[in-house]
Amino acid sequence: MSDLHIAADVKRKALANVQDVQLYINGQFLNAESNQTFDNINPFTNEKINNVASGGKEDIHKAAMAAKKAFKGEWGKMKQSERLAYVYKIADLIDEHVEELAPLESYDTGLPLSITKKMVSRASQNFRFYAEMVSSRMVGDAYQVDNEFLNYTIHKPVGVAGLITPWNAPFMLETWKIAPALATGNTVILKPAEWSPLTANKLAEIIDQAGLPDGVFNVVHGYGETAGASLVAHEDVQLISFTGETTTGSEIMKNGADALKRFSMELGGKSPIIVFDDADLDRALDACTWGIFSFNGERCTANSRLYIHEDVTEDFIAKLKERVDHITVGDPLDESTQVGPLIHTKHSENVKSYLELAKEEGCDVYQGSVPEEYSRGNYVPPTLLLNADNSMRVVQEEIFGPVLAVMTFRDEEEVIELANGVRYGLAGYVWTKDIQRGHRVSQAIDAGMLWINSQNVRDLRTPFGGSKHSGIGREGGYYAFEFYTEMQVVHVALGDHRIPQFGKK
Ligand code: NAD
Repeated sequence: MSDLHIAADVKRKALANVQDVQLYINGQFLNAESNQTFDNINPFTNEKINNVASGGKEDIHKAAMAAKKAFKGEWGKMKQSERLAYVYKIADLIDEHVEELAPLESYDTGLPLSITKKMVSRASQNFRFYAEMVSSRMVGDAYQVDNEFLNYTIHKPVGVAGLITPWNAPFMLETWKIAPALATGNTVILKPAEWSPLTANKLAEIIDQAGLPDGVFNVVHGYGETAGASLVAHEDVQLISFTGETTTGSEIMKNGADALKRFSMELGGKSPIIVFDDADLDRALDACTWGIFSFNGERCTANSRLYIHEDVTEDFIAKLKERVDHITVGDPLDESTQVGPLIHTKHSENVKSYLELAKEEGCDVYQGSVPEEYSRGNYVPPTLLLNADNSMRVVQEEIFGPVLAVMTFRDEEEVIELANGVRYGLAGYVWTKDIQRGHRVSQAIDAGMLWINSQNVRDLRTPFGGSKHSGIGREGGYYAFEFYTEMQVVHVALGDHRIPQFGKK
């Protein structure tokens, strides 16, 4: 056993006695009203970690009442500077707990520690960033109409925000929503994914420690069909920010229609990476392998479809195979691991079923390997689907694992059509040294976010979101204000303008 292996084992033993997870409502940690729980499973060993309180309709109602009261009361009346001081305090407390949070997230999700460490520091940045954005960029406009009117806009918080999050980057995605929701003055009910509850629970402890007034932040764990659906349907919850699968998003929109809920939808993806023959092929190779195999391939913006120019295909594929052979598949708590186990056996079985389908559809499936000692975990080795084409289901559907479909193209026009030939439109990556072509192709791709000669590097100030079946609306930067605030316009008469005098004799 190497030193890193031993260190990973020590970390796991230290985590093994993590406490059961309760709900956090109105400033208190509670069991579900029904007293029901579900098991939380470790993806590396498939052993039970702990019990999680399974919230339902009554718990959501309790949380909604607490959040509504806090919105109408202390939080709603608080000065912005005081509110933002709480937001900064949450960021500082997250930083103090980084060493604890990252292993906890890896233990719960199977994501490699090198990834969770970065995500946890992004989480505190999310809070600081939104505190800064609200104080500097949450501004209205003023419209002068000669000397008759001054019309101006202001942003007001909406009320109780329901936030529903997935398991693939739990802590980072939760904070990505909580930070703007709180900073803009809303109160929050978070419904984390049932397969990854640990860091959400830790966040509740941190926010409790920050001393926010009771009811401002609440966490109701539970299944999507019960806790999630009740949150969507609750009449005192004004908005739902959802990140998850496209089919779940459309189900949620149907369920929220009667209450005319406001939605932000961050959904699935099947993003293309296009490599032209003039690209810096070594850097493109680095970006391509990282973009699909980091995060265990469970990344919404993963470049899961490679289109490689036919003149450079042979060499590029040979190098891709070499990378796949050498990716370090290992224990998520080991600092050197690049790919860990997938979140749950249900998910890894689903990913494996796509590999069978790929063979049936005519792909040549090329895989790395998983060391024998990890046979208890939900591992899928890094995989290439060679000889794929756009008509296949494995190219059209989101697999959400370490699986790259590899295709070739001849010219620009053809590759744009291929890249756009799926129902998703989240992200895209273009590699070429011809900068005019880089812009041209990027702008022709129907997706929310494009990167030229870069892997997925986020700039928090820019809009985040997808088009087509990948989402509705944009979060990130000041774009989040459109969703998390109500814009109001106030029209002020500066003089005695003419008012029609109906009925005057
Ligand atoms: P999922 O849709 O299964 O679940 C997401 C959340 O929705 C969970 O908390 C779940 O409990 C809840 N939920 C399920 N059914 C519900 C219902 N009827 N009502 C209310 N809530 C319900 O998604 P997942 O498997 O957890 O996450 C993976 C998916 O998330 C992938 O498709 C991935 O692309 C997507 N994702 C998108 C982005 C983005 O920004 N576009 C980011 C990360 C992940």
